[in-house]
Amino acid sequence: MHVLVHYAEIALKGLNRASFENKLVSNIKQVLNKHNINVEIEKVETRLLLHIKNKSAKTKQANKELITKLLAITPGISDFAFVELCNVNFDEIKQRFFDLFVNAYKQEKFDAFCIEVKRSYKQFPLTSLQIKTELAKFIKKRCSFDVNVDLKNGKKFYVEITKKYAILYSHKHKGIGGLPVSTAGKIVALISGGIDSPVAAFLAMKRGCSIVAVHFHNFTKSSGIVKDKVVRIIKQLSNVANIKLYMVPFKELQFSIIAGVKPKYRMLVYRFVMMKIANKIAQSEKAKAIVTGDSIGQVASQTLSNLNCIYQASDLAVLTPLIAYNKQEITQLAKMIGTYDLSIMPYEDCCSLMIAKHPATNAKPEIVEQFYNYLCDKFNLKKLEDDAIKKAKIYVF
Ligand code: ATP
Ligand code: MG
Repeated sequence: MHVLVHYAEIALKGLNRASFENKLVSNIKQVLNKHNINVEIEKVETRLLLHIKNKSAKTKQANKELITKLLAITPGISDFAFVELCNVNFDEIKQRFFDLFVNAYKQEKFDAFCIEVKRSYKQFPLTSLQIKTELAKFIKKRCSFDVNVDLKNGKKFYVEITKKYAILYSHKHKGIGGLPVSTAGKIVALISGGIDSPVAAFLAMKRGCSIVAVHFHNFTKSSGIVKDKVVRIIKQLSNVANIKLYMVPFKELQFSIIAGVKPKYRMLVYRFVMMKIANKIAQSEKAKAIVTGDSIGQVASQTLSNLNCIYQASDLAVLTPLIAYNKQEITQLAKMIGTYDLSIMPYEDCCSLMIAKHPATNAKPEIVEQFYNYLCDKFNLKKLEDDAIKKAKIYVF
């Protein structure tokens, strides 16, 4: 089985192109190998050819579906297809194209078709137009069923002529584009058990960031369930690329916040402290920014005033890819990356004492900072932060 992969943006990277390509190759290998799919990857001009080595015919269809799911969320891929490879010889191309055509017809029963030809091997004796015309003639002559050429609405077939292979296929899958993970540096992603933050982390990965995920593990009645849920969410996200997860215990900090902060400000101070710890982890991990799942006005802690209060805790840039997304758009992405079903599992992510009946929606940064300084004096909060990092459980997926 062979898969053709096209990339879009990488092709524009000039002198850096080789390193972007190499990253994409190693990311694809890593993800497929995780699922026991054995692959060799060959660079063919400005595309990649994946040669899948698993032989069992029994698992072929299952592997095809899995590979489709995984490549559809691999950053850097603009489109991909399961392809037939043949020698760059027109008689052979015609025959193999005919077989591909008949197989596609058996499955889809179309009335019209068209052929798209890319001919990057300029020494090939026929032009793109001649290839198209000759192939269409051959099909019409050999087919026992009636099909016409329709350039606008016909079922599309694709032929790519490179120096080494003629590549033939009848169905193209859309990729998500973007840049290969690890080409843009590392960031810390704050991951709750909700729908939004895994999507935010995914969008950062889509722009080439590698992720260190951090979850603050609150003390609640269902602590164990949340922990398990976050681990499963990150495991699912690791289908995009490898992720390191810090599970940071928050109980001691949580109790100090409840003891020292008025209810209406607790959530903000809580998020302020998370941001402080995230910065410390970022420093030790050499990460360059923090990403959160905030979206303006979605909940009380996400008004512009409150976001200002929270983000002042960060020395690093705070990235918020979902800032202008609606819940429906976020949900759609969560379904695509497979985290939605895990995120909606019922759980209590935050202790009820942290959630006020009337939370502040227009807080002033000074007030949040004053509370934070008070906690530092009264409960030695900075030491509690460091202790929490030391006690964090680390997972690598
Ligand atoms: P989400 O669906 O991601 O939970 P939300 O809409 O429920 O987001 P909040 O709970 O206010 O909003 O959280 C806003 C952001 O703060 C989250 O997207 C996440 O980045 C971060 N965050 C919240 N709780 C935690 C936590 N326990 N551990 C790590 N990050 C968190
Ligand atoms: Mg949440």
